Amino acid sequence: RKYVLAEVKECGGEEWVLEAGDLPVQRFLLWPRKAQEKHPQSLGFYFLLQERNHDGSIHYVHLPPVSKEQETQRLAARGFLPPPQDDFADLCNLPVLSEDSILNNLRTRFYKKKIYTYAGSILIAINPFKFLPIYNPKYVKMYEKHQLGKLEPHIFAIADVAYYTMLRKRVNQCIVISGESGSGKTQSTNFLIHCLTALSQKGYASGVERTILGAGPVLEAFGNAKTAHNNNSSRFGKFIQVNYLEGGVVRGAVVEKYLLEKSRLVSREKNERNYHVFYYLLLGASGEDRKEFKLLPPEDYFYLKQQNFKIEDEEDLHHDFERLQQAMEMVGFLPATKKQIFSVLSAILYLGNVTYTKKSTGRDEGLDVGPPEVLATLSDLLKVKEELLVEALTKRKTVTVNDKLILPYSHSEAITARDSMAKSLYSALFDWIVLRINHALLNKKDMEESVPCLSIGVLDIFGFEDFQTNSFEQFCINYANEQLQYYFNNHIFNLEQEEYQAEGITWHNIDYTDNVGCINLISKKPTGLLYLLDEESNFPHATDETLLAKFKQQHQGNKYFIPTPVMEPAFVIQHFAGKVKYQIKDFREKNTDHMRPDIVALLRSSDRAYVRQLIGMDPVAMFRWGILRATIRGIAAFSEAGRSWAAKTAGVVRPISRTPLGELQRSNTQIERMYKKNRSIKQKNIIPKNLLDSQSLKFIVSLQDRTTKSLLHLHKKKKPPSISAQFQTSLTKLLETLNRAEPFFIRCIRSNAEKEEMYLDEALVVQQLRYTGMLETVRIRRSGYGAKYSFQEFIGQFGVLLPKNATACKEDISPLLEKKMGLDPTTYQIGKTKVFLKELERQQLQDMLHKE
Ligand code: ATP
Ligand code: MG
Repeated sequence: RKYVLAEVKECGGEEWVLEAGDLPVQRFLLWPRKAQEKHPQSLGFYFLLQERNHDGSIHYVHLPPVSKEQETQRLAARGFLPPPQDDFADLCNLPVLSEDSILNNLRTRFYKKKIYTYAGSILIAINPFKFLPIYNPKYVKMYEKHQLGKLEPHIFAIADVAYYTMLRKRVNQCIVISGESGSGKTQSTNFLIHCLTALSQKGYASGVERTILGAGPVLEAFGNAKTAHNNNSSRFGKFIQVNYLEGGVVRGAVVEKYLLEKSRLVSREKNERNYHVFYYLLLGASGEDRKEFKLLPPEDYFYLKQQNFKIEDEEDLHHDFERLQQAMEMVGFLPATKKQIFSVLSAILYLGNVTYTKKSTGRDEGLDVGPPEVLATLSDLLKVKEELLVEALTKRKTVTVNDKLILPYSHSEAITARDSMAKSLYSALFDWIVLRINHALLNKKDMEESVPCLSIGVLDIFGFEDFQTNSFEQFCINYANEQLQYYFNNHIFNLEQEEYQAEGITWHNIDYTDNVGCINLISKKPTGLLYLLDEESNFPHATDETLLAKFKQQHQGNKYFIPTPVMEPAFVIQHFAGKVKYQIKDFREKNTDHMRPDIVALLRSSDRAYVRQLIGMDPVAMFRWGILRATIRGIAAFSEAGRSWAAKTAGVVRPISRTPLGELQRSNTQIERMYKKNRSIKQKNIIPKNLLDSQSLKFIVSLQDRTTKSLLHLHKKKKPPSISAQFQTSLTKLLETLNRAEPFFIRCIRSNAEKEEMYLDEALVVQQLRYTGMLETVRIRRSGYGAKYSFQEFIGQFGVLLPKNATACKEDISPLLEKKMGLDPTTYQIGKTKVFLKELERQQLQDMLHKE
């Protein structure tokens, strides 16, 4: 008796409908979730077997919970076969294309633990919330130099193809990962970086790989936190660019960060947490460290204990602290540096415990600040004088033309000043860490090889978010996601179809949902929400209400700006991924949240060099010694001539370090101008001719430029650009970088909202497939042409298949495809300058080549 498992369905558990030839249909019911309720210790399945007897009566057999694998074996022993292999590794090969068929295919694969699926060269990754054993070095090897599509889809396949495409074409590549919060972007980034460094290790491992691998965990400890959607949610964006020598060995890397969510430090939504590092430190530090950094139990800190404070994972946090320490060592933080960092973290936590009371004596309107032991500890940790600390925490200093005004803060102003100090310190710390990591990544170049100029960038930003209350941070995060969706659309639909048209091949346009309207609403000059926000942030009499009124007045009737009730202090935007309601409260303040001058002055007075460094106490020295040294090493690392030059720079650095600030500034502008004109660098003393390749130069110039700009702000007391303006600038820069590289896309999909292992919530998945335009994406990938060659490239690669005298033109290439190979005319087209082929036909050509 053979039974065939005919169908697997989801219904709160799993229902396996079994067909047994012409015997009556029998069913298995699998209820993984129920099983766990009944047998919490079991992670397996609880089975209820319903069998129909020959007389038609039904009886049930209860089977004890077992794992799915065990059950499959047991089924096999009873004569049941596993379900037929009817899934497709590439959605483009689906026999029928519809939302249903895509979903069915993804679901079938998912329950077979195949979380990756292609749509052409786009990788879809469904987060299983369970670690699968498919990421060990064996897999890196397995996918090395393979042809995309020949093996099971895998994230390593994308890393591998990006790497070898970079080497073959000598063009920079980038991997753009998108998906909502909790869909697996950061995890995917870690797998990619792991694979990208592993691919290069050919006995050359210079230590820079170690630094690159350590950077991820350090940044996550300081920049990730538990949110409602994700236990390890990124609260900043990052672009990691791995640089390679021409031979393919890792040379170094650059990390660019975007907008850290500062407000989390002082308050957050229910059940959410502050940044990981605080919990790691408090639960992982040794007794000795506890004493040195004056640590308290977590529940004693105001910044940690607000709202449903519970720590359930103490044991994990303890280990996480050890791992963080290791990672910090990997990126080259010395024990002394770690101590400095931890004492600043401790100071930040103590700041939250500063309290204010109305002065009880006399008619003085000031505030009493306390408690005394907190102030004493703070002054000790930051090494600042207690009087100065108290002053900065209670009084505002304003400098007018003739006068210095000192006014006491009101209670709420004082709280804001205190929180602002904590936020400023933390974001300065985070910036410093990123800068240091970049130094480590630049410095560790092995000096043996010459001129690399290739790179693979991996973009991992904060995913689309819709919380119960959304504010300025979500607005920026979701705007960044809009931009990324636009970039995706532009590549997959616009550029592709424009090319077909330009080449004059037969083509019917495929429609997709364009989100440019939403981007315009947010960022188009001069009435985009971001511009209105900047305007109102600069206007002294404006309030959050006037800002909202301005938004409403300008964009009434815009279909992306959904009306809200008049009295509600909020606005709604129709994003590509759904509607989000933003509370207008604090938009202005958050947009101009800079380090206050009196806080800068206080920290500058610190006796601890590290604290002064954090806020740029001696920016000139930092600039000259830190950045300049990096520049020189960068140059040295990037070319033969540079190296010999750098060897002589001991004498050069010194004179430069004495050059007046203005001159350095001028030289920067000059370098940048020249860079823009794409000419070699003529800067006589600073950078010799022909020494820099564009990648490293661009990074160094931008670092120098930023440092110089912040220096100038300090000197001229000019108002720095608003947070949103800075964000906008860095996004634009990012998009420029992406536009210069060849992109690969990874679309992360969240399987369920509850973070449950191996469970796929169809409604949630369909929603994501819809808003990312998956159906249209597969459609265009299917009817479009995956492979493109200019005539020249075609001759270069397949010339041997052509007659000897063949030239790069349509007439000479056409007979090969049409006659010799006899290709179906719908599978290829020859345009004005390029040959377009479907993937299968390209493989056919490749196979022929091997036979020749
Ligand atoms: P955010 O936008 O909030 O930063 P994200 O897209 O970066 O979200 P991740 O932090 O990468 O999401 O993933 C959330 C969690 O899902 C991870 O902490 C991990 O537990 C799990 N996860 C993600 N991808 C995988 C995977 N491939 N295998 C196993 N677990 C995964
Ligand atoms: Mg993330």
